[in-house]
Amino acid sequence: MQLLSANDMAKLGCGECGGCSACCRGMGQSILLDPYDLFLLQKATGLHFGGLMQEKLELCVEEGLILPTLKMQSGTDACGFLNGEGRCSIHPYRPGLCRLFPLGRKYDEEGLHYFLLEDACEIRNRTKVKIRKWLGLPALVQYERFLTVWHELRISLQEQIEKQPADSFAQEINVKFLELFYQKPYAEEEDFYEQFEERREEFMYLFMCSMRSANRSEANAGQKQQSNNEETGIKKQ
Ligand code: SF4
Ligand code: SF4
Repeated sequence: MQLLSANDMAKLGCGECGGCSACCRGMGQSILLDPYDLFLLQKATGLHFGGLMQEKLELCVEEGLILPTLKMQSGTDACGFLNGEGRCSIHPYRPGLCRLFPLGRKYDEEGLHYFLLEDACEIRNRTKVKIRKWLGLPALVQYERFLTVWHELRISLQEQIEKQPADSFAQEINVKFLELFYQKPYAEEEDFYEQFEERREEFMYLFMCSMRSANRSEANAGQKQQSNNEETGIKKQ
């Protein structure tokens, strides 16, 4: 797999898709949304998370973490933003994974890379386009930094959820996660990245409190078990 940066060229140009729309249909719950996607969807539709959840979005569970995805509509199995002409009705505001296609993202110690999903788009003879231009986003450096931080946050939460045996911990974390990053409306006229950073800090504080409380409960349970064992031992004598 060849790893690419935003300044690299890749065979992406598909002549404006020619009415294909294959990647807007039958995608199941694969088009996961991040907070920046929510910020853009809010701008595009004027709807907040609750309104979007009425028809256009649904929730899925990814390794213990609850995340919103685009919802394929019953009957058509197409995204709810696909219009009658087979075009995206929110094109300038489409989610990051839609912008990216037919590219994928990969994260490692050096940060974020892109790679071409070789057979994902059916159009042949695609033309070379600079990835930066393909994504068409302002402040790309900030966006990539946000994506890396978001990716790391998701991975570490999933790891902690897996480690903590109590379901109540996962539930508590998921409620805070959804509330802070998705349900609470974003101020559209304000800088997204500043809002995200404030929410991330608040979330991390709440997360650390939950971790401490979960660890305390575990330690108490351990002590109780030990004292139970000692009592049992005493009774046996
Ligand atoms: S599969 Fe390719 S050509 Fe078809 S809509 Fe998606 S990007 Fe466009
Ligand atoms: S948001 Fe637009 S580009 Fe993305 S799947 Fe829906 S219709 Fe397609």
